Amino acid sequence: MPMEANLESVRRRIAAACGRSGREASAVRLVAVTKNQPASSLPALCRLGVGDIAENRVQEALAKRGALAQLPVRWHMIGHLQTNKAREAVRLFDLIHSVDSIRLAGEIDAQAQRIGKLQDVLLEVHLSGEESKFGIPPAEVAAVLEDIRRLEHLRVTGLMGMAPQVRDAQQARPYFRRLRRLCDELKLQECSMGMSDDFEVAVEEGATLVRIGRALFV
Ligand SMILES: *Cc1c(COP(=O)(O)O)cnc(C)c1O
Repeated sequence: MPMEANLESVRRRIAAACGRSGREASAVRLVAVTKNQPASSLPALCRLGVGDIAENRVQEALAKRGALAQLPVRWHMIGHLQTNKAREAVRLFDLIHSVDSIRLAGEIDAQAQRIGKLQDVLLEVHLSGEESKFGIPPAEVAAVLEDIRRLEHLRVTGLMGMAPQVRDAQQARPYFRRLRRLCDELKLQECSMGMSDDFEVAVEEGATLVRIGRALFV
């Protein structure tokens, strides 16, 4: 079963990267990105001990979660979130990684208040020039955080970022280092960075959440 072997390999590589950087393996949580995967692949992941599932679209998550409501997993939203989807996102997700504006944070807060929830979120930081249209410029994160911290039904637990696509994962290192430094400066615990092509470097630089899709499923 390839997924089982893939998962084992990813876990081994995370542990090795922790070892190289003097971190505890338990400091890094593997978030399995199941976008574009059928709902039927999720129970197997859970049986193999994956407790964190990520989707990048509210509709797709809704369909999968409906089919798997009883599974004890934490659901992560990693894609761009439109304000008009905040209501469903707050119902669905334990952690929203992609908060990139005060306006979106305000809407999430309002929807969380409606259902009496404290919504955990990460602020998405725009680390690279071209890869993503979304995210808060690093220089503005502190000010945005200060604004958002006034909201009572939303809790910012960390930052999320994406390195640009590079030929050699080592080239992603400065971007990850920058995000980690921002987390430290702002005293934020969670640092969501690293994908299939670059997660080992991200772990070496202090990722606490790695978001991995293709390496699990191809
Ligand atoms: C798809 C996606 C991932 C996972 O990417 P892989 O290269 O498949 O590991 C991680 N983060 C975000 C925001 C994504 O959209």
